[in-house]
Amino acid sequence: LRMISAESQSNEYISDEELRPDTLETFIGQPQLKAQMKLFLDAAQLRGVPPDHILLAGPPGLGKTTLSMIVAHELGVPIRVTSGPAIQHAGDLASIVSSLEEGEVLFIDEIHRLPRAAEELLYIAMEDFRVDVMVGKGPGASSIPLTLPRFTVIGATTREGMLPSPLRARFGFTAHLDYYPHSELKKLILRSADVLGIAVEDAAAHELAIRSRGTPRVANRLLRRVRDWGVVHSLGHITPEAVFDCLELYQIDSEGLDRLDIAVLTAMCKQFAGGPVGLNNLAAMVGEEAETVETVSEPYLVREGFLARTPRGRVATSKAWKHLGLVPPNDVTS
Ligand code: ADP
Repeated sequence: LRMISAESQSNEYISDEELRPDTLETFIGQPQLKAQMKLFLDAAQLRGVPPDHILLAGPPGLGKTTLSMIVAHELGVPIRVTSGPAIQHAGDLASIVSSLEEGEVLFIDEIHRLPRAAEELLYIAMEDFRVDVMVGKGPGASSIPLTLPRFTVIGATTREGMLPSPLRARFGFTAHLDYYPHSELKKLILRSADVLGIAVEDAAAHELAIRSRGTPRVANRLLRRVRDWGVVHSLGHITPEAVFDCLELYQIDSEGLDRLDIAVLTAMCKQFAGGPVGLNNLAAMVGEEAETVETVSEPYLVREGFLARTPRGRVATSKAWKHLGLVPPNDVTS
């Protein structure tokens, strides 16, 4: 175990990029997904062709970008990275796809946010490896079909339901990433601690894991904050107490709920008497975008049984009331 000291500041600028595993082997957790992906990639390699297009769906921070980089790395091909919101016109996408190399991976993050015209161009590019380039303007304009090399699109989305079905149908393999169990987050934390040069007690890694909302990105972020705590308090290594004290400061509670999660639950219970409440009203009450509440907070709250989705809207469960230390309005037991 290394000490946390001023020397470990040489590790201060290890970015999130460097915490990314670069092989399927070192990608932690998601065993079924990894097995499927391995089969899929092995088969493509044996057949000597680029694999079919891949769709990765799941909440933010679970490893979609990481997996896409792993795919490119495992195939030994370059990767081009873009995102739905970065592409404003179909022409932006046309120029990207027409400059791809044979076999290259094109990663499109937040693919559900592509503009409609770009989406249509993408269907054709994915299916026929062709793009129609417009030449000229006005009545004299014509389109020239351009043949593209075979490439692999990896789309990532937090809102699979928002993808139009023709686009969804063009992916040969869809993988759903799910929240990570505590045991896997603990492994991830110990691995990141090693890379960052932080000594973390086993029990402290466990405490961090259970407060990481099932999310690798959160686990890595909390680890960095706890490292700060260790440096400032001159701790030789991170203890469970250091984790408690530090995370209390950052308002991460014992269930790993963060400020947004707590704001959502509090609004549900206090302003809306436990619901049912619609997404837009709820988002307005906590001062967040509806999409953020829906993709970041809600899936975890639902999964952990704090919130339920009903046809009439979201409702707070008895676990939510209890966690906030509140009594539901018509609770006969109280
Ligand atoms: P997403 O694209 O789904 O939002 P990322 O791929 O950017 O998520 O992952 C967020 C961070 O979590 C990255 O820095 C990565 O290092 C780490 N990470 C994600 N999944 C794993 C995993 N299975 N094993 C190890 N690290 C992971």
